[in-house]
Amino acid sequence: MQLLDGQLASLTIKDSLTLKVAQLLAEGKKTPHLAAVLVGNNGASETYVGAKVRTCSEIGYRSTLVRLEETISENKLLNVIEELNNDMEVDGILVQLPLPKHISDEKVINAVHPDKDVDGFHPINVGKMVQGLPTFIPATPHGIILLLEHYKIDTRGMHAVIVGRSNIVGKPMSILLSSNANPGNCTVTLCHSQTRDLKGYCRQADILVAALGKPEFVTGDMVKEGVIIIDVGITRVADPTRKSGFALKGDVNFAEVAPKSAYITPVPRGVGPMTIAALMKHT
Ligand code: NDP
Repeated sequence: MQLLDGQLASLTIKDSLTLKVAQLLAEGKKTPHLAAVLVGNNGASETYVGAKVRTCSEIGYRSTLVRLEETISENKLLNVIEELNNDMEVDGILVQLPLPKHISDEKVINAVHPDKDVDGFHPINVGKMVQGLPTFIPATPHGIILLLEHYKIDTRGMHAVIVGRSNIVGKPMSILLSSNANPGNCTVTLCHSQTRDLKGYCRQADILVAALGKPEFVTGDMVKEGVIIIDVGITRVADPTRKSGFALKGDVNFAEVAPKSAYITPVPRGVGPMTIAALMKHT
């Protein structure tokens, strides 16, 4: 079993971006600038946005964190996004999801200008991705592709099974792994909560991408020997032995599945850092 170390792989990407920033500055060009919008005080969102902002400063990007009250109206939020769209100093905009219930994710995603949509969620960018045109690709699936690339894993002809069909992870992952590219060129099965015999599909997988948000859902009996495991899940599970009061759990039971795997991502230090690295590349 080999660990797919996202922390390590992301360092290579961040190092190359640091060099690129120096090169841009030497050519008299501007510093890349990411604006992150955070609505409310969700603990996990605070952590994710904090990590993104910190990474910007590590590689020499400018970043602006726009913090907004949980109670902000949808219209006010849309106005903030419009201001960022029109701000020539800002290159990339991300709005941290989930948003409070009274705000429509769809309206907010559609409001970000496609040219600044570094998360790759705008329908124009999704459409381009489906057609295989150059565009922003959602950061988590792109990070996974970069991780497979980093470890030189030839996925051609493999059966990839993805569990979870969200717009930000599962669905775009199915498009990328089935595309005529390498990594890619897989035969893809996209599973979800209505899939019959989920275990039967998982057991057929050469590559299993678990993105359902159910801690330790994938157990040893659900995978075959030699499988490649990509564990996207991150769930905070109460753990009184830790100072934070919680531990992060993936969607895969690592202890049971790792011994059967050819490659496996850990949680944390797997897909998470690659998501941030992909976002930085887009910016
Ligand atoms: P969503 O809740 O949006 O989607 C979950 C998907 O899993 C849905 O398609 C759902 O099916 C499916 N699902 C849920 N339960 C089951 C089940 N019992 N059997 C089969 N399928 C099931 O989640 P996200 O895609 O946003 O996130 C998934 C996980 O990945 C979460 O833990 C999240 O925190 C993590 N994540 C990690 C990132 C990283 O950087 N590492 C980035 C983004 C997310 P249905 O559509 O039928 O409801």
